[in-house]
Amino acid sequence: MAGAETTFREFYRQSIDRPDKFWAEQAKRIDWQVPPQQICDYSQPPFARWFVGGTTNLCHNAVDRHLASRADQPALIFVSTETDQEQVYTYAQLHTEVQRMAAVLKDLGVEQGDRVLIYMPMIPEAAFAMLACVRIGAIHSVVFGGFASGSLATRIEDAEPKVVVSADAGSRGGKVVAYKPLLDEAIELSRHKPRRVLMVDRKLAPMTWLEKRDVLWSELRAQHLNDHVPCTWVDATHTSYTLYTSGTTGKPKGVQRDTGGYAVALAASMDLIYQGQPGETYFCTSDIGWVVGHSYIIYGPLIHGMSTLMYEGLPIRPDAGIWWQLVEKYKVTRMFSAPTAVRVLKKQDPAHLKQYDLSSLKALYLAGEPLDQPTAQWISEGLGVPIIDNYWQTETGWPIMTIANGVEPAPSKFGSPGVPMYGYHLKLINENTGEDLVGHQEKGVVAIEGPLPPGCLQTIWKDDERFVNTYWKSIPDRLVYNTFDWGIRDEDGYYFILGRTDDVINVAGHRLGTREIEECIAGHSQVAEVAVVGVADALKGQVAMAFVVPRDNHYLQDDAAKLRLEGEIMKLVDGQLGAVARPSRVLFVSLLPKTRSGKLLRRALQAVCEGRDPGDLTTMDDPAALHQLRSLFT
Ligand code: AMP
Repeated sequence: MAGAETTFREFYRQSIDRPDKFWAEQAKRIDWQVPPQQICDYSQPPFARWFVGGTTNLCHNAVDRHLASRADQPALIFVSTETDQEQVYTYAQLHTEVQRMAAVLKDLGVEQGDRVLIYMPMIPEAAFAMLACVRIGAIHSVVFGGFASGSLATRIEDAEPKVVVSADAGSRGGKVVAYKPLLDEAIELSRHKPRRVLMVDRKLAPMTWLEKRDVLWSELRAQHLNDHVPCTWVDATHTSYTLYTSGTTGKPKGVQRDTGGYAVALAASMDLIYQGQPGETYFCTSDIGWVVGHSYIIYGPLIHGMSTLMYEGLPIRPDAGIWWQLVEKYKVTRMFSAPTAVRVLKKQDPAHLKQYDLSSLKALYLAGEPLDQPTAQWISEGLGVPIIDNYWQTETGWPIMTIANGVEPAPSKFGSPGVPMYGYHLKLINENTGEDLVGHQEKGVVAIEGPLPPGCLQTIWKDDERFVNTYWKSIPDRLVYNTFDWGIRDEDGYYFILGRTDDVINVAGHRLGTREIEECIAGHSQVAEVAVVGVADALKGQVAMAFVVPRDNHYLQDDAAKLRLEGEIMKLVDGQLGAVARPSRVLFVSLLPKTRSGKLLRRALQAVCEGRDPGDLTTMDDPAALHQLRSLFT
């Protein structure tokens, strides 16, 4: 699969020049009920169909196939410092729990192809629900627990789930966040109504009950304790899940993933990129609501026969040593986190890093946002293991760029996520002319020539047209996948990511669309106009900053009124989108900087906030807008 003597360069070339041979080899890493008849059908670009004719099942590959050799090995290790719980499920126990959940879902009428929306905190039942869905061929759509009713409603409406699985509450930093009221409100707002709502009661928050719709997991589980629910063999191209991500419009996109391609891509990455060994423990600190959580808390480690550590809690509670304590206790060998989390730890007492035996740990992988040098250096010195940046997107499901030490060990360069991974025919393109940039240090759009490798999105849920127009038609005269990131490449072929080309911002590794936040704020009766931009932040990478033109000018003069309105706007965003989307500040102006044709000068707005030169303003309509902005920051 990667011969001992293969160089990464050769390995990569094979994946691009002879993809069928390359991926046929990688496909042997997973179990098939019927092996694929065709490796890639790219007869209708840009739609790629991987492993056509093959039938398989994600849950079988993640759970059942390990029973023969690792039934008593821990599969899922759950630790919550929020509720002081710790529970280990062996592969045999996970198998049992997943079958119970699958039986309950079937009982509630869920069939192959039906959607199940999962709105859950980081608890084992969330993993059972995901695995149970793919076991029976249902399509899960996990919505991050930090999203509020408005965001949830949009997703319910788009996914049209037959059943929603949720819990009474999550908990963050010891503060209980009730989910049920948010869910009830979201269902109220949505035009689509799920038939049933399956609730896990953690006894953290009271729940109001809708008799004919709401059912309790503990009660139904008790009725299905000994049920056997076999895996449903599905086509490799069968959709396993959808996961919503933000774009430039207010409407989130349902990234749609297949089954066979995803399983193969993850199995390969666990060996070639993450280098985990079956039987070892993998600790990914993300959340199941994000793509990293799907791929590297649930499916990747389990497909690879590892024990996966699922952690509910903050990295600094009860103290900043908690992650390292878990590394020691469970002998974690591979860890995956985000730069923001490391920056949070960096502000704490460095002694915490030295308190525990971290000798099991072999590498730390970081992704989701640019990794700055001081952060990388600090954690690298503290842990004494390689820190490996990896760049990818919800759309791709696994890294586009990193270092594949499992193919050939190579050095990392600070500031660079590495080199293009096997299967990704990466290009830097001039966004105006569509020409390939072949020189070094030339800034271009990071793009991928089709077909996208296995594991990447099949399309946007229910919207093939949007998939084609958004990702594949934005560069002149080229049918290439646009990542919407700027990049440059050095003479060794290492890439450096220079930020987004669109209006998407990245707050603590979470992608947020400024349009979504603007649409929410515009809903306030006192707001005439609003612009939201991402502004550099030392801890979170970026934060959202909102500029509001109030309907009534008195807000501009009255500080108390301004403060009140700012509070109301923040509450509105919290309530509709969730605290993740809340702007760090709401500033009031009488006009926004725009071009003569009325286009908002976002870059200028952003530059002023960051104390930079706003650049060419010859197209600006009224310079007074900029003067006013500058005065806010001096
Ligand atoms: P998401 O789909 O939410 O994971 O966001 C993907 C976006 O996050 C990418 O398009 C990049 O803008 C950014 N991103 C992810 N990983 C990295 C990384 N390692 N370095 C720089 N930016 C990253």
